[in-house]
Amino acid sequence: MTGYRCRGSVAVAFAINLASVFVVVAQEERGSVGSIVSADTARAEAMLAEIRGHTNGLALWWTGHNGWLIKSDGVLIGTDLVLADPGRRKNPPPVSAEQIAPMLNVSLITHGHGDHFNGPTTRILLRKSKCVFVLPTSCLDEAKQFGIPAERIVVAHPRESFEIQGIKVDALRAIHGNKRGAVYFDANLEDCGYVLHLGNKTVMQPGDSVLLEDHLFVKHVNVLLFSPTEHNWLIEDSVTAIQSLEPDVILPQHRDTYPTNEQNRFWTKGFPFEVKERLPKELQKRFRVVEMGERVFVAYQ
Ligand SMILES: [Zn+2]
Repeated sequence: MTGYRCRGSVAVAFAINLASVFVVVAQEERGSVGSIVSADTARAEAMLAEIRGHTNGLALWWTGHNGWLIKSDGVLIGTDLVLADPGRRKNPPPVSAEQIAPMLNVSLITHGHGDHFNGPTTRILLRKSKCVFVLPTSCLDEAKQFGIPAERIVVAHPRESFEIQGIKVDALRAIHGNKRGAVYFDANLEDCGYVLHLGNKTVMQPGDSVLLEDHLFVKHVNVLLFSPTEHNWLIEDSVTAIQSLEPDVILPQHRDTYPTNEQNRFWTKGFPFEVKERLPKELQKRFRVVEMGERVFVAYQ
């Protein structure tokens, strides 16, 4: 039994009530089938040329939601890429899965929900890329379902470190949240976040998680990707984490990607500007609410 499940009659009623909420999570965050959304060709070509031309230092491009393309010198890493989410995104990604596939070296996955470990994107990357998939054990069923062969999988375990393509990665614990910031009934202790050591910089991708001491204990975060949604750090916990970590570059994610309605706003609606206005001036200067496809450059000193 996990530590989150309630006991007693009141708790049972509470759990039943929450169970209906969790069905919403399962439906909303898991993938579906349909037609593939294509990226704008000219914009995509410009971005691909920019990625190809990046050979020095660290650069990141947001592709929507928790999807980042991160290039350090010659290695291109994706986190939770959703580049072929059929008919679900409110706007197409800046590049398609087909376009990025030949350049991608590593596809990092944080957990098994369809807006993070995306089936259509993964199936394209499997065919058109030689990338390795880094994923937690909680994603192995989906990996099998998508047809990823064992030799292309590196399994990450929370609180353990490993190396991939010459890059040191610390896997973070992640505990999935839900409406009202409560821990998700089906939260899986095997889910991960990641800290990537790139050159002399670090990039922290916490995945989907309520705020944990694990996050606050991370040392020297240069680039922080964080999710100011109701089921993640929202506003208060985002401010706590940012003030504790004092990153050089602060980039909100999990926002402005899926159409928002009353049922799904706990995971589709981010509050980046509300976080920013609560920060001291010095940290506000490091805060960037980027457009999709926009490059964030970090020099190695
Ligand atoms: Zn999510």
